[in-house]
Amino acid sequence: MFMRIDKLQIELPKNVEPDPAAAAAIQELLGGRFGEMSTLNNYMFQSFNMRGRDKIRPFYELVASITAEEFGHVELVSAAINLLLNNSTDGNRTNPDRAPLHSTLGPDVKNMHHTLINGNSARVADAMDMPWTGNNVFNSGDIVLDTLHNFFLESGARAHKMRCYETTTNPVARRMIGYLLVRGGVHQAAYAKALEELTGVSVTKMLPIPQISNKMFDETREFEAMGLHRILYQFSPEDYTHLGAIWHGEHYEDGLPLEVREGVPEGHPLADLTEAPSSGVPGFAPEELEELSQRLMKNV
Ligand code: MN
Ligand code: MN
Repeated sequence: MFMRIDKLQIELPKNVEPDPAAAAAIQELLGGRFGEMSTLNNYMFQSFNMRGRDKIRPFYELVASITAEEFGHVELVSAAINLLLNNSTDGNRTNPDRAPLHSTLGPDVKNMHHTLINGNSARVADAMDMPWTGNNVFNSGDIVLDTLHNFFLESGARAHKMRCYETTTNPVARRMIGYLLVRGGVHQAAYAKALEELTGVSVTKMLPIPQISNKMFDETREFEAMGLHRILYQFSPEDYTHLGAIWHGEHYEDGLPLEVREGVPEGHPLADLTEAPSSGVPGFAPEELEELSQRLMKNV
């Protein structure tokens, strides 16, 4: 089962200018074939479906615990998209004749569905607004094949994150991508180590891991200095205690010791996003919303 914690894995900058173009680009990292919806659902269904799991428990625990982390990554990319769409339209619906959504026709808007369908929020779709599909899930039941696929998935995900990073200097997008490059690097290395345990093959001889170092990107340094490139979380208060059978030894790049950590990352508060009255979101006029809020809090 899953427990939910009302925090983000990292803090994102608040009070930034709206940036619908960056929001559209990083949709690829949410709902693209190699996005967080794909990593989440691949590992989730592989863990649900694994046969003989007690005999190969560390491999089961690896996909099970990373599933929980990926769920938080879906949340994190969505939070970034929402921040970038915050205040991207203005005006008030009480005066529709003034075209309060006119900015949706602007040259920086690459995905009109953000406003027209979602009321300034994230879509379960890629950068071209193609909906995410279950066809992006690979689950053969063969542990070697599935692990090889997961290694490939994390490698492709890293490549797409780097390209998204290069599309924008927006601080929200870059900080989110910097963190995910570091954490994706852990997952990529973990699946490489799992393949080495399963087959004896040296994955690093086939492909340098990573092909492009996280150390090239300004926004990864803070997270690597915190050791986040060498820590694998159990993502559970007491379960998934056998990860050390795979995640042990030294980091491929800097030789620092790999570590399995109990529980979850520290976590940071989510931003409270502003209403979008021009789109009728959340469906009440400002004075009605205030009254509703006061009435609800009285019963807490
Ligand atoms: Mn991820
Ligand atoms: Mn990952």
